[in-house]
Formats: sequence, structure tokens, C-alpha cells
Amino acid sequence: MRVFVDDDSCRGHGVCAAVCPSVFVITDGGYAEAIRSEIPADLEAPVLEAVEACPERAIHVKEENHVN
Ligand code: SF4
Repeated sequence: MRVFVDDDSCRGHGVCAAVCPSVFVITDGGYAEAIRSEIPADLEAPVLEAVEACPERAIHVKEENHVN
């Protein structure tokens, strides 16, 4: 799973960083940033929790389609 924060939508509430600090931080500019884009399996649940918790719906995830 990959994750990114939409800079245009983020309002810097920090909910994401509170829910999942392993992935989301608030930068000096006051907005959220995903410090890792590739999400390991053990962090998928808290990332999805942050997606649901974001008041601006600014966090987007994309499931990887593994083609072997
Ligand atoms: S919860 Fe949403 S709007 Fe708030 S800082 Fe995180 S990504 Fe931005």
C-alpha cells in the first residue's frame, strides 16, 4: 500500500500525526507529510485509521497491484 497527503487539501490539524506518528508528521510549514510512502503491513491499519480520521479527506492510499 502507498500513501500520500494532498497538500492542497491538508489544513494541518495534525490528527493523522496523532493517530499514526510512524507515518505522518507535521512539517515546519504546518502541514502533514507522509515520511514513508510504502506502508508495511503492520502499519496499514493505523494508516487507514488516519485516512478515516482526517477531517479534510486529504490522505490518499493506493493498493499495489503486484504483477509477477
Ligand atoms: S489530519 Fe488531514 S488535514 Fe489534518 S494534518 Fe493530517 S492530512 Fe492534514
